[in-house]
Amino acid sequence: MAEEERHVSKTYDLVVLGGGIGGYTAAIRASQLGKSVAIVERDKLGGTCLHRGCIPSKALLRSAEVYATMKRADEFGVMASGELAFDFAKAQSRKAAIVEQLHKGVQFLMKKHKIDVVRGSGRIIGPSIFSPRSGAVAVELEDGETETLVPNQLVIATGSRPRVIPGLEPDGRRILTSDDALELERLPASMIIVGGGVIGVEWATMLHEFGVAVTIVEAAPRLVPGEDDDVSRELERLFRKRGIRVMTGAKLDVETVAADETGVRMAVDTAGGREELAAETMLVSVGRVANVDGIGLENTDVRVENGAVKVNGFLQTTEPHIYAVGDVNGGLQLAHAAAHEAIVAVEHACGLQRTPFEAQLVPRCVYTRPEIASVGFTERQATERGLNIKTSKFSFKPLGKALVSGDNDGFVKVVADAESGDLLGVHIIGPHATDLIAEAALAKLLDATPWEVGNAIHPHPTLSEALGEAMMAIDGLSING
Ligand SMILES: Cc1cc2nc3c(=O)[nH]c(=O)nc-3n(C[C@H](O)[C@H](O)[C@H](O)COP(=O)(O)OP(=O)(O)OC[C@H]3O[C@@H](n4cnc5c(N)ncnc54)[C@H](O)[C@@H]3O)c2cc1C
Repeated sequence: MAEEERHVSKTYDLVVLGGGIGGYTAAIRASQLGKSVAIVERDKLGGTCLHRGCIPSKALLRSAEVYATMKRADEFGVMASGELAFDFAKAQSRKAAIVEQLHKGVQFLMKKHKIDVVRGSGRIIGPSIFSPRSGAVAVELEDGETETLVPNQLVIATGSRPRVIPGLEPDGRRILTSDDALELERLPASMIIVGGGVIGVEWATMLHEFGVAVTIVEAAPRLVPGEDDDVSRELERLFRKRGIRVMTGAKLDVETVAADETGVRMAVDTAGGREELAAETMLVSVGRVANVDGIGLENTDVRVENGAVKVNGFLQTTEPHIYAVGDVNGGLQLAHAAAHEAIVAVEHACGLQRTPFEAQLVPRCVYTRPEIASVGFTERQATERGLNIKTSKFSFKPLGKALVSGDNDGFVKVVADAESGDLLGVHIIGPHATDLIAEAALAKLLDATPWEVGNAIHPHPTLSEALGEAMMAIDGLSING
């Protein structure tokens, strides 16, 4: 068969490169707006969040939580007879079943919205016989053939992958990335986690609850350095209290890492000197890098800055008909941020009026125990911007619902502008923080003041009362604090 005959090309209003949460959300919204859409995915629809991120990690965290609760069941007057046991393989199959169900759901949504799913690896091409401008996507299909998709507009949503420390190649056995850790067949006796950011502390929580001896090695002076200082301090205090070893201001000497059949060994430099550490395995969780390589950006005028695709507030790249959403643009690296960016990008591409994406409105969630969630400025960020601020805190300690549930560690902290009274930031460490933050995110969107949020009626007994009390406390009006 002649080369030209095998090379199929199709035209679309919009093509999306990458079928993760950013990509499939963009495709759905475009279809809802009457556009013809194709989405290119080389692996599985759902991407990192569904297969290697949010969902599988939260499924395992939930198993760990049930196990941890069972261990203290007698506190609640529940006496289980026999020895409590944990079956990691079963937790893994529960996780896999949840992922599969949701995977089917995403596939169904593509059909429902009549989106063409093109399976294969896509590469953006420059001006060609298919189009006078860059942005067409050549897809190497699974059967080895090539199909070219020619869109009016393109959304790049190729996501990210785990960052590797130079000189420390993960081997999937002793030296793990979070991708490897999610596929473990059995739990190790001990784990050194290098990196105390969001992924590292979530794994520390889970592994500790499973009974694994955990050490966190973090180079920064505190855990979760993106969060408010008070929140980091509280997390570190609670981790230590529970028996998780936390080393902050600690720098791994990569050259000392040795892995063999017995485990891993390494030296870590701290203010107190050099320390030798050993464990059965290590997890390297030092961030993620955007997938900008091998996708044909060199054939376009799309600019890459600091390893990520540069975009404006409407997620447009330096080629206005090409957008980039989600982890690939180096933003917040959160699933819901990717999804929201996708909506802003597509609506902008369709000529609908919309305000630009505002990172300040995105809630950030960390699924530790207790959970962490925040929106807006931390106290430090507000002060660094020269704002005159006031802060308030309400502890979960005396809260009825928190006591009832048996989890009353943590607090809600509010940061407000001392002059205007505007709400600048809300920071929660405590039970169900990741659910509670939605109210604060709505308050930020609606530009509500702490006084207004405090005056919304919070049902009793609920954990939401802590948020209401913290808001009233900013004016010294907390009733129970
Ligand atoms: C362990 C872990 C836990 C996490 N937990 C949370 C959480 O609880 N909450 C939260 O909000 N976020 C969480 N995240 C972050 C979240 O997963 C990401 O922010 C989100 O997945 C980003 O979505 P995306 O669409 O930008 O990219 P991705 O989900 O990475 O999707 C990109 C897709 O593009 C495909 N692709 C790439 N290149 C090509 C190509 N050339 N051709 C075809 N297809 C291609 C990939 O196969 C992939 O499917 C977590 C991440 C990790 C690693």
